[in-house]
Amino acid sequence: MEQSVQTRRIDGKQLAADLRERLRQRVAEAQLSPTLATILVGDDPASAVYVRSKTRAARQIGIDVRDHHLPATTSQDELHALLTRLNEDPEINGILLQLPLPAGLDEEALLDTIAPEKDVDGFHPVNLGLLLRGRPGLRPCTPAGCMDLIHHTGTSVSGKHAVVVGRSNIVGKPVALMLLAEHATVTICHSRTPDLPDQVRAADIVVAAAGRPNMIQGDWIKPGAIVIDVGINRLDDGSLVGDVDFDAAQGRAAWITPVPGGVGPMTIAHLMQNTVEAFCRQTSSG
Ligand code: NDP
Repeated sequence: MEQSVQTRRIDGKQLAADLRERLRQRVAEAQLSPTLATILVGDDPASAVYVRSKTRAARQIGIDVRDHHLPATTSQDELHALLTRLNEDPEINGILLQLPLPAGLDEEALLDTIAPEKDVDGFHPVNLGLLLRGRPGLRPCTPAGCMDLIHHTGTSVSGKHAVVVGRSNIVGKPVALMLLAEHATVTICHSRTPDLPDQVRAADIVVAAAGRPNMIQGDWIKPGAIVIDVGINRLDDGSLVGDVDFDAAQGRAAWITPVPGGVGPMTIAHLMQNTVEAFCRQTSSG
């Protein structure tokens, strides 16, 4: 019989609060004046909540926010024109286009329109290319947050076997590149991976980003593994759960992030960090 492991929870809420406080101090002490433009198209309630919490976090740090709330009927050309205007506006340091956009709008084309130096989400092909090449650039926020959470455990990533479940451009692929850059041996799994449980069983570090409630079972987790749960899934009863069966992971994982209160707050904190970084690079300050 396998020995039970003491499972510790990684408090993403606290780590994110610490990062935001460091940013607040940096902005105040160096008298930085970063400005973030947010764009919300339509009335999706979840997107509105996300933009509100990003705006609140920004203002607490001392980042000025210019909110653009546009109707769901906004055309591709109108959005393109707004992005171009914000790209050219020297007072704007970061541009956040809240996704998903209403049906009919080409998200990828619009994300590509954002100037790479103002792309605080880190989704632009130039920034993803810089990540691939291991060069400085604005990093995608959720993957960067996952790495912070792993670092917080005090475990070196080098030489570990990391298994990433999910291969999206915003989470799975970039987090795999970040783990690789820190010398993990990385396996990326997706919906066509035939033996997912066995892949996960081999992992010292699991990053779950599939968007499937409680998919990763307790007995898939190698005793002593670090488990980072990116998934945010709303159940019929309104509760939020991750991709990992959190209760079943107790006694197996050495470290695990909760949902909510794990990766989510880190994503917002990294958006703030990118905005301050973007300002410093554009103004050669800070
Ligand atoms: P996507 O839907 O873009 O990607 C999901 C990935 O998971 C795909 O690569 C898909 O494979 C894979 N997948 C789906 N089902 C399975 C399965 N049964 N077995 C193995 N792989 C599977 O999602 P995102 O990357 O955008 O988001 C993933 C999750 O993370 C969601 O729950 C989302 O809400 C959450 N999220 C949380 C954030 C945070 O701040 N905490 C930020 C961003 C996302 P395939 O490519 O083959 O289809």
